[in-house]
Amino acid sequence: MTQQAVILFSAGLDCTVSLALAREQGLQLALGLVFDYGQQAAEAEWRQAQVLARHFDLPLQRLALPWLGEITETALAKGSQQALPEVSVAELDSIATVTLASAQKVWVPNRNGLLINIAAAFADRYGYQAILTGFNAEEAATFPDNTPQFAEAATRALAFSTQVQPRVSSYVQHLNKVEIVGEALRLKLPLTALWSCYRDGERHCGRCESCSRLKRALQAQRCESEYKEIFGADA
Ligand SMILES: [Zn+2]
Repeated sequence: MTQQAVILFSAGLDCTVSLALAREQGLQLALGLVFDYGQQAAEAEWRQAQVLARHFDLPLQRLALPWLGEITETALAKGSQQALPEVSVAELDSIATVTLASAQKVWVPNRNGLLINIAAAFADRYGYQAILTGFNAEEAATFPDNTPQFAEAATRALAFSTQVQPRVSSYVQHLNKVEIVGEALRLKLPLTALWSCYRDGERHCGRCESCSRLKRALQAQRCESEYKEIFGADA
C-alpha cells in the first residue's frame, strides 16, 4: 500500500528537496502544513509554498500559532527587539564562535517538537504514516532539533500518543546543503521558487545565516543564474 505523508512545509530548500525525494521513492504527498508563528518570513514562505505546491500538486493547509510568536524572544519574530544575526558565507563553519550564537538568537521555544506533534494529530486523524521534515546534516551541527536522534525519539514518542504511529523522517537528513542543491538539480526542481530567507520581501536578503548557507551551496553547484535571481544581480 502506498504510504501517505504529511509535510512540515516552509518552502525552504531542505523541506522541498526532502518531499521531492520522498515522492521519488513512492510516498504520496497528502498534505503540506505551512505555519505562521509570527516569524518575519511568514508571508514570503506562504507565497512561495503556494507556488511550490502547484509544482508538486500538494494540498496545503496554513496554520497560525500567534501565541508562539508572543512567548518567544527570537530575532526571527516580527517586531523583535533583537536584530537578526548576519552570518557571512566565510563564517558558516565557525560553529563555536558564530553559528551557535546565531542559532541561540533565532531559537523558537520547542518549535520543531511542537510542529511535529501538530502534524502527528493530522496523521492520526487521516491515516498518514509519515511525517516529513527538512532536517539535514548541516543544521544538525547547531540545532539539536534537526538531528536524526530527535526524529527517532519523536517517532518513539508518537507510538504512544497516536494510533497511526507515524514515522518522523527527512529524506535529506544525511546531506549537507551542497548535496541537497545537487539533488534539487537532479530532480529539476524550481530552485528560484524556494524561500530560505529568515526575512520577508520580494527577494532573499542575502545576509542572514540561512541565505548564506543557500549562497554557498548554489556557488558550489555553479548555479549562477539561479543565484542572481534569488539574491539579485549585485549580491
Ligand atoms: Zn536572508
